[in-house]
Parts: sequence; C-alpha cells; structure tokens
Amino acid sequence: MKKIILYILAFFMFCFCIPIVFIKPFENREMAYIIENQINNIEEQEEQINNYDYKELNTVKLFHTKTGEIEEINLDEYLVNVVSAEMPADYEEEALKAQAIVARTYTMYKINHKKHDEADICDSSSCCQAWISKEDRLARWEEGVREDNWNKIVRAVNNTIGKIITYDGEPINAFFHASSGGTTETPFNVWGGSGYPYLQVVETAGEEGYTQYSSEVSFTKEELVNKLKEKYSDIEINFDDINSVKILEYTESGRVRTVQFGNKKLSGVEARTILNLRSTNFEISKNEENIIFSVKGYGHGVGMSQTGADAMAKQGYNFEDIIKHFYTGVEILKY
Ligand SMILES: [Zn+2]
Repeated sequence: MKKIILYILAFFMFCFCIPIVFIKPFENREMAYIIENQINNIEEQEEQINNYDYKELNTVKLFHTKTGEIEEINLDEYLVNVVSAEMPADYEEEALKAQAIVARTYTMYKINHKKHDEADICDSSSCCQAWISKEDRLARWEEGVREDNWNKIVRAVNNTIGKIITYDGEPINAFFHASSGGTTETPFNVWGGSGYPYLQVVETAGEEGYTQYSSEVSFTKEELVNKLKEKYSDIEINFDDINSVKILEYTESGRVRTVQFGNKKLSGVEARTILNLRSTNFEISKNEENIIFSVKGYGHGVGMSQTGADAMAKQGYNFEDIIKHFYTGVEILKY
C-alpha cells in the first residue's frame, strides 16, 4: 500500500514538477519540498498506526450511575449513544464526525486513566461522558425526525471508525464544551496543573448565532449577597462603593480570573459555580436595582467548542480541520 502511494507521488512529481523546473525553478523547489513532506508524513503516520493496537479495546465497560449496573457494550454502539447525548443531531455531519472522534478518543483516554474501579467510564456528563439509551433519545426527538436523526449519528460514528486524536502517539484528553464564546481556554485557568500542550487558546468565528453564545443573569443586591453567603457567610458588600463589585483580572482568553465581591476576592471559576453562570467569560454591569452578569459561551471553554465545530462545518471545513483547529499539534490516527 505504501509502495503504491509512493509510486503515485513519484508519477505526480514526474508529470508536474519536472516540466516546472524549466519554467519556474523557485516554485518547483517549494513543490518538491511539499511532496517530500507529504511522503515523510505518510511514512510517519503508518509507523505510528502499526505501533498502535487498540483492537482489543473494542468493548467498553459502562457504569450506569442511576442503576449501579455495569454493562459491556461494543465501542462504536456505545459512541452512537454518547454522540446523540452530547451534540444536537441537527448539527452538520462534519461536526458530528468530529464529535464522534472526540468521544472515541476521550473513551480511550478514560480506559487508560480509569476513574471507576470496575468500569471504564460512566454515563454522567459531570463525571465522565454523557450517554443516553436509544429509547430515551428517540422519545426526546419529535416523531418525524427520529429515524433521520438516529441514522445521521450512526453514520457519523461509522464514517470515522477507529479514528482517534493523538499527541506524541498517545490518545489525548479530548475535553470539549458547548460554546467557547469565540475563544477557548487553557486547562490551567480552569483546573490548574499542567501537561496538556495540545489544549491552547484558539479563536473561532461564527459562534454568535447560537443560543449557547450569550446569556444574562440578573440578581438584586440582596439576592447576590445571599447567594455568595451560601459559600462565604462573612461576606459584606457596600454597594455605594463603585469598586465593591468589580472584575480584577482576566485570563489570556479574556475570561475572568479574579473578581471582587465586597471583602472577598473570588476566582472566575468559583464565581461561575456559586452564581450558576454558563461560563467564566462574563462582564458585570449595575443599575439601581440589579447586578447583571452578561455571559459569553457555555461550559469550561477547554478543547473543542461544539457550536464552534458546527460553525466551522457550515463554513466548509471538514472534521479533520475542526479537530486540528481546537487541538494544537495533534494527529488523527486510525487504529
Ligand atoms: Zn465517571
């Protein structure tokens, strides 16, 4: 197979590059460089694929959090239910394919980094990865679109069979979220720690049109104080002081790093949790009565943005473009 590709490339070089030598020597040098690179990439990829044997890992031990039961399921069957739980079925096929690869990669990562004793992964989105039974999934869609929606997701999983995202030859920890609000976040600014070079801040155009992109939460002064008192019983805010409620610092992605509430300084992540905001990408405004939080994006902001993926697919990008946009320096390999 490798040989055939090399022959085709050699033939291509012969037909197109050699005549160019006589016309445009500099462009030819560039072309030859590109072709040489392509050959190297193919060799590199095949090498990695040969060293990569996940065939034995084609079943998943899924822990059902509600019943406590552990079920052994075929990996790709499991992924159809996951993708149907994690991404709206009316998203573009390329976005669904990207989600299927992300979910497969995340599952592989979890198999190697187990959180649960007897199982590989559980069905909860707040712990591992959302999963919904086919019966429940179909019941939540309108009758007229049930079959088409399900088949569309089955297709996204089947068209990407075996594909996973790797960095340095290992499956990545493929974080994703609903909407980045235009810019993703580094894991350090959400959970601290280090060690995910493929999770950088990246910008994505076209998320503005989605309902997940912007939201607003409004509190009366009393409501705000009471909310914060659930965590900090000794909090005091003098609303006459204009500096009493104020963002102090932003992260590189423009999210809130620290915010002042009266005598307390909170991290953006903590404020998001206590006030139940959709993300840490917020601005604060005040009027006579209320303190208003205008929020951009939905979720922690790390890794692939689902609305960003769909927006990119609408602009004509394929699943590979989408994945390589959100995860820096990765390869998509087939095992
Ligand atoms: Zn779990």
